[in-house]
Amino acid sequence: MTFLKNLYATLVIAHSNFTASFGSLISFLLFAFIAVIFAVGIIRTILAGRHLKRSSPLRRYTPDPDLTAHACESLSEAIRIPTVSGDADGLERFREYLKTRYADVFEKLNFVPSGSNGSLLLKWKGPKNCDKLPIMFCGHMDTVPPGDTWEEDPFSGRTDEEGYIIGRGAIDCKNVVIGLFEAVQSLMKEGFEPSRDIYFAFGHDEEIGGKDGAAIMAETLHKRGMRFEAIIDEGGYITEEHFGRKRFPAALIGVGEKGCSYYRLTASGKAGHSSMPPKHTAVGVLAEAICRIEAAQPRARLLEVIEENVKLSAPAMRFSHRFAVCNLPFSKHLLYKLFSSVPDINPYFRTTLACTQVWGSQAPNILPGKASCMVSARILQGDTPKSIKKYLQSLVEDLDIEVESVLEIPASAVAATDSVPYRTICAVIEEKYPGLICIPGIQSITTDSRHYEPVCDNIFKFMPFVMTSDIYDKMHNAGEKIHQSCLGLGVEFYKSLIKSF
Ligand SMILES: [Zn+2]
Repeated sequence: MTFLKNLYATLVIAHSNFTASFGSLISFLLFAFIAVIFAVGIIRTILAGRHLKRSSPLRRYTPDPDLTAHACESLSEAIRIPTVSGDADGLERFREYLKTRYADVFEKLNFVPSGSNGSLLLKWKGPKNCDKLPIMFCGHMDTVPPGDTWEEDPFSGRTDEEGYIIGRGAIDCKNVVIGLFEAVQSLMKEGFEPSRDIYFAFGHDEEIGGKDGAAIMAETLHKRGMRFEAIIDEGGYITEEHFGRKRFPAALIGVGEKGCSYYRLTASGKAGHSSMPPKHTAVGVLAEAICRIEAAQPRARLLEVIEENVKLSAPAMRFSHRFAVCNLPFSKHLLYKLFSSVPDINPYFRTTLACTQVWGSQAPNILPGKASCMVSARILQGDTPKSIKKYLQSLVEDLDIEVESVLEIPASAVAATDSVPYRTICAVIEEKYPGLICIPGIQSITTDSRHYEPVCDNIFKFMPFVMTSDIYDKMHNAGEKIHQSCLGLGVEFYKSLIKSF
């Protein structure tokens, strides 16, 4: 209703201004025309609302208790082995732990030499002469550092009174690694044999770019001429509150990821004593550049997959946002405008820029000869690290500022949502959580899976774990945790997914 009230107030003010300038007849005709357009838009929104697919309430079933108990014990133990990226000893101990805990899996699956020292590549062999392309599941064994805001031991792996397993890696990404091993072990005990080759790739340096892990494994597979039907990595998850709407669950499936670039902007100025400053110091010039960057974010665009995303998400939206979605493509600019102030949705439509680090002089009474800042860009498909560099240069061309690239990771390809593997994932979601809506999207975080583009077109980023946004926000944060039943359900899901391929 607020939207309609604001709209009405705006029209009344505009109408009186117009009447004063052009006379009442022209103003009446113009406003009658605008009113008809809005009325049509509102009717379309109401009618569309009746046909939009709404997600059913999340019906959780009880996972197998023995399987869940075993998986929880495994994850607790896995968390107790710190594997912060770069900790070679910790990662070595973690690999040894997996080999002991899942000795039967390591015996049955083939270890594939991948060229990467710290990562693991395993193959579960399908039938001989199978003509189906293999699939691959990915995860990573390393974690980010715990940070200094934990109120308890970040590597305790303890289970609290509510049933949460706590510790670094609980949802990123030891849950995926353990979940997959548990699923394979359980399927082996049931006598299951895969109908095609299934690979498992576990990187050891995902959190620092994956260049010695996934990048090497991908290169090795590419050189062997391998192709994969589908690759499934971490990323999207099952949320209980989509678009901030309580009791609106959805399975969020990443079909692509944004690129990531860092740029250093350096302003030059007169160095010297701060008692005799020039009109603009290097810091002042840099500040001007930062203000311009914040005020002029790159042009918005609507990718096909994002249009699919917002249309599927529309039932979770408030009326004004739904109005913009239901009247696409005419309401594209209204859509961008409405979501431009929503930090977690704005990135769907544009490359985002954020100034993250600033350097000036080393003392309060010294004018810096140079002042610099770092700009972090998340590159949307359609832009490139080079085009965004040009964009930044154009924003500051009249200032004495140099723009240089520090890191350039382009946006990934976008996997098709009408492909067989995507439909297979959705079918398993429907089997496990009837009525749960599957929503494809582009994620703003980067994962190991982007390295595998040369060997696969169908790369999906989805981990089958149910999380509230409170839990998801603990990723890379203090208090990272996963519920025991959530882990059990995840293992059951992986079993079904492996069987369905
Ligand atoms: Zn991760």
